[in-house]
Amino acid sequence: MKKKRGNKGLHPRKPSKGVKKMSTLNALKQKLQGSKFRWLNELMYTKSGEDSFAMIKETPKLFEEYHQGYREQTKQWPERPVDKALKWLSGRPKDWFVIDLGCGDAELSKRAPQTRVQNFDLAPAPNAGNVTVCNIASLPLQSSTVDVAIFCLSLMGIDYGSFIEEAARVLKSKGWLWIAEVQSRCIDEQGRSMLDDLVSGIESIGFSLKSKSIENSHFFTIVFQKQETQKMKRTSFPALRACMYKKR
Ligand code: SAH
Repeated sequence: MKKKRGNKGLHPRKPSKGVKKMSTLNALKQKLQGSKFRWLNELMYTKSGEDSFAMIKETPKLFEEYHQGYREQTKQWPERPVDKALKWLSGRPKDWFVIDLGCGDAELSKRAPQTRVQNFDLAPAPNAGNVTVCNIASLPLQSSTVDVAIFCLSLMGIDYGSFIEEAARVLKSKGWLWIAEVQSRCIDEQGRSMLDDLVSGIESIGFSLKSKSIENSHFFTIVFQKQETQKMKRTSFPALRACMYKKR
């Protein structure tokens, strides 16, 4: 009787023990990275900008890990707010001076039609290019010099109101403030939306609301213009919730 020949090449072979061990190790590594990202993320939402800055300065590796985790999360999103920001910027004057506050990977500066886009973050993410390292509550910019300030998911500190006030300082009269945030951050303990409180907080420091978009179920965008004569009758900003990412 003829001996049955092996079917090498027709069916995938069973992974060898070594390969199996590697994939288990990789899965574990990914899980660990995921939980580290969630831990860091929560820390940054429950600290002031200054405290997060001090933490990142002390351990820069934390920032790299945060960004790796953030990138992994955004891969799953059907739409990224940074693309919305790009859409908004396209068709606007190319000579506008744009600042990307909490720029992360600095995609705006790479893809926006404006030639002057300055990036700001607590540390430079790998491949972000030129980033001005600072806490965005205190920008190394002169007052009334900026055309557009973008906060794309970056109102992270408990003192985020001071980030917006700093943007108000550096924006020119009639300059634009563009904000995207996660919707669930704006829902209080009773399930009530705090979006109107956020909007009136921002209006109280001299902005007028130009558009509000909540059609996407995950994020909202609010766009303001700085008024020529500022009211500056500061009301408080609501305490936004931390954005918690799910375990994957
Ligand atoms: N805007 C980017 C990244 C969002 S992640 C995007 O949409 O893809 C939020 C970013 O805000 C992080 O890079 C974080 O480091 C930055 N950030 C948060 N608080 C900050 C602060 N106080 N000063 C500077 N950057 C801050």
